[in-house]
Amino acid sequence: MPVYRDEAVVLRTHKLGEADRIVTMLSRQHGKIRAVAKGVRRTASRFGSRLEPFMVADVQLYEGRSLDVVTQAESIGAYGALIADDYASYTAANAMVEAADRLTDAEASLQQYLLLVGGLRSLSRREHGAGLTLDSYLLRALSLAGWAPSFQDCSRCGTPGPHTAVVVQLGGVVCENCAPQGAPRVDSDTIALLGALLSGDWETVEASSEQTRSRANGVVAAYTQWHLERGLRSLQHVQHEPKPHHDQKASG
Ligand SMILES: [Zn+2]
Repeated sequence: MPVYRDEAVVLRTHKLGEADRIVTMLSRQHGKIRAVAKGVRRTASRFGSRLEPFMVADVQLYEGRSLDVVTQAESIGAYGALIADDYASYTAANAMVEAADRLTDAEASLQQYLLLVGGLRSLSRREHGAGLTLDSYLLRALSLAGWAPSFQDCSRCGTPGPHTAVVVQLGGVVCENCAPQGAPRVDSDTIALLGALLSGDWETVEASSEQTRSRANGVVAAYTQWHLERGLRSLQHVQHEPKPHHDQKASG
């Protein structure tokens, strides 16, 4: 049986039979992998918690007829418990893996893998507010998938900005000529924050006000939902706070 090895981040798992799980992973080289982890739900499983969501592992698999089978898993990034320890981080991480799962259906890329691992690592370290980490991740993941928004020049005709009308269906800000009647307007601070989230300019992001973050979040959510059509279920539960509380526990 052909055996292969890769690094992968666990997106989700579901139960299979009494003791096994199907693990959906985004891997560095092989794109998305669905594989069976045998005995993983037993207390004394040799996999421990290494195949739980948000964990990054060096995995060895053999190719099965329908599903591959995980034979080894060594932890590279044990982010799961650290993330689950904070509710805001936990909900943000759920939205991130759900987006990654959907965005890599057609094609996976190394960049998507690295972006997701970087985002989960950042959440586990509480580097920035969880909602901000998620919004930055979503804008960049959508960009990698070919849906890069513009928050500077008109996304339709390219007229240099700044512009204040934002139409997610058109790809971001639009100039006065391109703006449909009644197009929503956004203040310049919000536009600047959106640009900073997209480029990873964390100095600008951290300097933003709570009100600006909330407005930018509305644009990111609308933009994400437009491109992912059905919208991400987990986005509805994300809390947006400047500083995550460390005393909150994940529920369920
Ligand atoms: Zn225009």
